[in-house]
Formats: sequence, structure tokens, C-alpha cells
Amino acid sequence: MSRIAYVNGRYRPWRDATVHVEDRGYQFADGVYEVCEVRGGRMVDERRHMARLERSLGELRIAMPMSPAALGIVMRETIRRNRVENGIVYLQVSRGVARRDHAFPLPGTAPAVVVTARALDSVGNEATAEKGIAVVTLPDNRWARVDIKTIALLPNVLAKQAAREQGAREAWFVDRDGKVTEGSSSNAWIVTGDGKVATRAADTAILRGITRDVLIGAIAAEGLTFEERPFTVADALAAREAFLTSASQIVMPIVRIDGKPVGDGKPGPVARALREAFRRHAQVA
Ligand code: PLP
Repeated sequence: MSRIAYVNGRYRPWRDATVHVEDRGYQFADGVYEVCEVRGGRMVDERRHMARLERSLGELRIAMPMSPAALGIVMRETIRRNRVENGIVYLQVSRGVARRDHAFPLPGTAPAVVVTARALDSVGNEATAEKGIAVVTLPDNRWARVDIKTIALLPNVLAKQAAREQGAREAWFVDRDGKVTEGSSSNAWIVTGDGKVATRAADTAILRGITRDVLIGAIAAEGLTFEERPFTVADALAAREAFLTSASQIVMPIVRIDGKPVGDGKPGPVARALREAFRRHAQVA
């Protein structure tokens, strides 16, 4: 089946789904994005993703291209036209097309909007979660506003590639104080020796994941204790469990960090339970 993308007001066949050479997203990475899980053909946590999109755009002074409700319609239509049952829908908004100049273009320049959707291998993802994944660590060399979900992802790209080259699925960024900030495309968690489920505070040093936020609610509902605190790589290696969260991977157990085992080197019961619990807590509309 051929794929369809929404590009600036039109649903286009894949081969024609192109943006202008002077799109500021292409020239300057001057834009933001959202990735939303699709489950049973429906978007998961749409309202929260829209709220984060509005915040990201606001921080960069890019106008909302249309109302959240209208964007939701475009995203649902893109999911429908691509017949995605389980997967992701991707939304990108750039500051628009204008003659190349670093400073903002003239007021009234329309933001550019792209939406794509694709299926994910849910059977494969479950199999991966059964085994757990390996991560590697490396210095966090990103800018100081990674709380904004911008498309400027070069450090994340390089980190993910470094992970792949070492046989790992994710890279954890570590700040100057030795604390883990987050993964290249996920938030980082541990289950401490005394059973608390911990992740660092969502300040400007991490992206505040929607999965993270929903999971915090699920942790309490499961009768577990949540603790918002930073942790080091040594803390994670001494922890009972470690895992990551993201819209596409939900809760993914981590069994090795830099080649060393976490806990007994197998996915733990808390990560397993929370993977299930997330499904019950996420809002599907
Ligand atoms: N941190 C980074 C850097 C990310 O890119 C992502 C998701 O892509 C996340 C965290 C997790 O966010 P969410 O749970 O909203 O997918």
C-alpha cells in the first residue's frame, strides 16, 4: 500500500511529499515536532501531545498553524489514509518558508506543517520488551533548552548511532555532575534498591515525556512509590531495574548499561507491570 503524507494543506502520495528548499525546518532546524502512539487506529494521549506542541511553539514564538482540534483532524485523517492500526503519527511544524536569513521572517509567514503516520512492529516490540535492551552512556552535549521538542536533533542522532555501533538500542546522556539526563529519544528511569520508581525532574535539561507523565499516575495507582530525583550511572547499575519510556516504546526494560548487567540482567517485575499499567492509564480517543 502506498503511503500518504499531509504537507501544507494537502494529502500527497509519498513520492510527491516534499517541502520547499527554503523551509526553515530544512535550513535551520527551526521547528518542532510531536510523535504520538497509535493504538487500534486511535491516537494515544492526544490532548497532552497537543498541549506540549503548543508549549514548544510558544517557547520559539512560532504560531500554531491551526487549532488543536483541526490538527487532530489532520492527524486522524493521515492515520486513516495510511491504514495504521498500531504505530505512530508524526507531526512537524516549522517557522515556514522564507528567503534564507537567520532572523525571523516577516510576520504573517505561515508555519509549515507535515504529518506522517506509519505502523510499528508491535509483535517485535513485545519480543524486545521480553528480553530487555542495552544502553550505552555518553556526555550530554546538547543545548540548554531540550525541554522544547525541536527538530534540531543532531546530538541525539549521533548518540543513537554510537549506541547502534556498540550493539545497544539507546544512548543515555550524562550531565557534568555525572547524572543521567535522559535517552536520545526517551526518558530514563530506575527502580531503587528500596523499590522506589525514580526519574529526574522535568526541568529544562530533559524533554518532559508524555509517557513519563502518564506513567507517574500509573505508578501511584499500582501502589508503588514514585520519587523524582536525579541518578548516576553507578546508581542505575546498583538499581534493581532500569527502563526507558517513550510514545513508541512505552516502558522498555534496560538490562545492560555500558556492557554491565542491571540487577540480574533480565527485565524486572516493576517494568513489566508498568508496561501493562501504562496501557490502562493512557487516554485513547
Ligand atoms: N526524551 C527525548 C529526547 C525524546 O526524544 C522523547 C521522545 O521522542 C522522550 C524523551 C519521550 O517523550 P514521549 O514519552 O512524549 O514520547
